[in-house]
Amino acid sequence: MTIGGKPVTTAETFEVINPATGGVAGLCPSGGEAEVNAAVAAAKAAYASWSRTPDEVRRQACSDIARVLGENAEELAVLLTSEQGKPLGGLGSRFELGGCGAWAGNTAALDLPVEVVKDDNEGRIEVHRKPLGVVASITPWNWPLMIAIWHIAPAIRVGNTVVIKPSPYTPLSTLRMVELLNTVLPEGVLNVVTGPDSIGPVLTGHPDVAKVTFTGSTETGRKVMSSAAETLKRLTLELGGNDAGIVLPDADPARIAQGIFWGAFINNGQTCAALKRLYVHDSIYDDVCSELAKFAQSVPVGDGMAEGSQLGPVQNAMQYAKVVELVEDAKAQGARVLLGGEAPAGDGYFYPITLIADVTDGMRIVDEEQFGPALPIIRYDDIEDVLARANASSMGLGGSVWSSDLQKARDVALRLESGSAWINAHGGLNPNAPFGGVKQSGIGTEFGVEGLKEFTCIQTLHC
Ligand code: NDP
Repeated sequence: MTIGGKPVTTAETFEVINPATGGVAGLCPSGGEAEVNAAVAAAKAAYASWSRTPDEVRRQACSDIARVLGENAEELAVLLTSEQGKPLGGLGSRFELGGCGAWAGNTAALDLPVEVVKDDNEGRIEVHRKPLGVVASITPWNWPLMIAIWHIAPAIRVGNTVVIKPSPYTPLSTLRMVELLNTVLPEGVLNVVTGPDSIGPVLTGHPDVAKVTFTGSTETGRKVMSSAAETLKRLTLELGGNDAGIVLPDADPARIAQGIFWGAFINNGQTCAALKRLYVHDSIYDDVCSELAKFAQSVPVGDGMAEGSQLGPVQNAMQYAKVVELVEDAKAQGARVLLGGEAPAGDGYFYPITLIADVTDGMRIVDEEQFGPALPIIRYDDIEDVLARANASSMGLGGSVWSSDLQKARDVALRLESGSAWINAHGGLNPNAPFGGVKQSGIGTEFGVEGLKEFTCIQTLHC
């Protein structure tokens, strides 16, 4: 771990599993309450000076972070693949590291200038944005480094200090990344703790933590929210999704197949804003199914360390079991498996790319977030009906509309109850495009100036 700029370890460790082999990827220090308290104390001590550091210094720190990430991208990518399972190439670890650098660099370029809301002979009123204090960052196992940077960069850009706790499934790459970033940050500005499940609540409930930024499941998000209540901590919650994609009757199945595939299967479907329910108009249903299956068959799945792999194993045994359960449930209810659908024998958590047709709302694989490489394809024939079904979810992270008619697609997309909506694409992000969920997909916004504001409080100066 890195606490107050110093390396810290523990006598006890836990094993981190390589999901491609089931073997051990590495040993992780098993910190407890004492390490969490030490990390928060170090962050609190650093906050006194970091919060008053000139803006240009903090801007430079974010540029330095981007540079360090770039210089060490390959080492971090290899470590990430060894514990997360995603391939080095394609939309895998190197892509994730590229995103980390891009987001850190973009955060360096952002500004939150003082706003003047009144300036006349009666007086002047200025709106200042100030940092909050110690930020606790809790990250998941699907995009561990990218999400860590989404939390860290804006937090420190505006003068907060950070304690990050990565998922115990993928802690190693974050430990190394924080160690590297500490070479360009003052001690205590960025700290990392790892350990058993018990340390998350200790961190999110810590009285000296001013804000929690959390990415993970809705269920855990609720717990984080209640642990924040005692001291009224600020919160950003980026939670699950069950994103619908709607294919309109005028779409060209051959042209959209690749985009739909990667919208659904990026990172093996283990992505919060992946396409998780595909609604296709009855008139082109069979063509979309066969074009998707054709493209899916061309995608190589294998050990992420092998350069040709485009998809790797599912990340962990729990997630693997969930995917198997939902696919088996759909099969038992008469769904038609177009591709995959059988767990293979052998080492690692490999599950084949699975496309399931003739499914309906009400089946678990449609109603629940599968978070894995299995896409249900649902038939519809009426646009009002399909919009109602898409919006019937308690989630509202993303959604997409696929059509040859941009105007028609816009009209439908704007009626989706989701924080983001895409046309003829799904899940693409941009560091300046606000990203967040509505309904139970989360609270708050990430990225760009809107995201930066979430790490500040307002002080209105009447002068
Ligand atoms: P969780 O939401 O439980 O875990 C995410 C992070 O939160 C981990 O670092 C975890 O650490 C931590 N955490 C868990 N409980 C608490 C708590 N009470 N207080 C503070 N921190 C806590 O996800 P899981 O790994 O259990 O995955 C479960 C499901 O979540 C998946 O099946 C998937 O559907 C969804 N998910 C969604 C993600 C997204 O990007 N939206 C990402 C990952 C999963 P620890 O495990 O040590 O408690």
